[in-house]
Amino acid sequence: MEFKLTYATMFNPPEEMHTHFEAALAKVRASLGKEYAMLINNKDVFANEKFEDLSPVNLDWTLALMQKGNEKHAGQALEAARKAFPGWSHTSWQERVRILRNAAALIEERLFELSAAMSLEVGKNRMESFGDVQETADLIKYACNQVEANQGYTIEMGKDPLVGYDTTNFSVLRPYGVWLVISPFNFPFALTGGPTGAALVTGNTVVIKPATDTAWIVRLLAECFRDAGLPEGVLNFVTGPGSTLGQALVTCAVDGATFTGSFDVGAKIYRDFSACNWMRPILLELGGKNAVIVSRHADLERAALGIVRSAFGLQGQKCSAASRVFIEKQVYDELTTRLKGMTEKLTIGDPTERSVYLGPVINKSAYQDFQKYCAEITVGGGQFLTGGRVRTGNLFDKGWYCEPSLAVELPLQHRLWKHEMFLPITTIGKVQNLEEAMQHANEVNYGLTAGFYGSENETGWFFDQIESGVAYANRPQGATTGAWPGFQPFGGWKASGSSGKNSGGRYYVPLYMHEQIQTIVK
Ligand code: NAP
Repeated sequence: MEFKLTYATMFNPPEEMHTHFEAALAKVRASLGKEYAMLINNKDVFANEKFEDLSPVNLDWTLALMQKGNEKHAGQALEAARKAFPGWSHTSWQERVRILRNAAALIEERLFELSAAMSLEVGKNRMESFGDVQETADLIKYACNQVEANQGYTIEMGKDPLVGYDTTNFSVLRPYGVWLVISPFNFPFALTGGPTGAALVTGNTVVIKPATDTAWIVRLLAECFRDAGLPEGVLNFVTGPGSTLGQALVTCAVDGATFTGSFDVGAKIYRDFSACNWMRPILLELGGKNAVIVSRHADLERAALGIVRSAFGLQGQKCSAASRVFIEKQVYDELTTRLKGMTEKLTIGDPTERSVYLGPVINKSAYQDFQKYCAEITVGGGQFLTGGRVRTGNLFDKGWYCEPSLAVELPLQHRLWKHEMFLPITTIGKVQNLEEAMQHANEVNYGLTAGFYGSENETGWFFDQIESGVAYANRPQGATTGAWPGFQPFGGWKASGSSGKNSGGRYYVPLYMHEQIQTIVK
């Protein structure tokens, strides 16, 4: 297929994509319920305890039987990765790039089946599912391109000015060792495969621990890496609860880690990571509370489109979701009317269906949180312009379905203006001017993404003032989400992350290596 899928082109894909998706969905559905093992040393490893992986779309659907790994499995996986490190780190970068490119090619080859599984397990609509899978292949290829463009990160430096001696100096970036990748449920492919690709191509060996809610799809990703030809122990995959298995992986036996998830868990891992005798890198990619500022000069149709897409794509469960909107008073009424109208047109249901935009939220706890937050908004003085309720009846009683919700009139001091809800709830506020909007936008701990709609000569001011790792102006495809390239906004500021670098950006891949300066005197 000639078409190149991106988050920007996903709104109008060719018919062929739907036909392929439907065929793949039928195939995936026909084999649901199988047991999947963990992968250590390229071999299936089974635990005594198992868990059923149910679809949030319909809890009657058992997608897979997964392993409830424990501390013993954490130890086995780390040991396998440690043993494989000398061989893999001394494999030429050209060979590592070759194998990783194979992995990216396999992901693309399996795109439709992986997307169907993704939709069933995460509740993503089909286009969002394609996006997550395709983006993973792109991130891996991007990491390969970076290693190639930098000749494996070995660079000759200037001469040492030692009188009478001929010297050479090299800067060589080398892998750290065993790298741990812990990923969240919402982008189980890109947020596992992206960091894993970067860690592997630079010569680290990896242990992956996915979110429990999305263990199945990440197993399918691990198979792409395995089938690409990685030697034994280079990539290991374990499943089980974060609080036990995950915690057991955060040990001194790990040389570096990428954690993507909530602030609270990330902050704990950060503290635990410092309890060893030497310093190790930890890339933390955490939450967001992303603001959109709308000036009185904005194109309101474009603003409404971008805000609705970013607020309710993946049911608001994106770190980059548009969760706060500040509108200049002159255009407040007109924009809120448009937002309400557009939101009410969104379809809710089984996300594998072509016409559906919003699937379910990920689990019972998210569903209960949604109801709790809606009640808190009402008690706190807010009102719902639209939404504010869960859906019931027929399929809705089988899964976790919440309405896309826009809350207005909530006092700007209310705690939910600052707390990441991670649900399809966006709060909207009226401001006197742009300065007031910016003050509110920046007065949160997070600094992941932000959006602006206004005149061209206001955008410079916005980029200059906003405290966020990713910032968009006048983008109809999404106010705060989904640019391509630029990829996932891994690189948050403040409480949103520690790396400050975006995974699709130029400065990401070197984070997986430390530098050795080599000086030779002849
Ligand atoms: P989460 O609850 O923090 O879980 C993330 C991962 O950590 C899961 O694999 C979880 O395993 C594991 N975990 C939990 N406790 C652990 C522990 N004590 N030690 C080690 N691992 C542990 O986050 P989530 O609900 O999956 O994802 C949503 C969060 O991720 C939001 O805050 C969102 O903003 C953030 N996020 C950030 C980015 C970014 O790029 N900045 C991107 C996407 C998502 P279990 O599932 O088994 O508990």
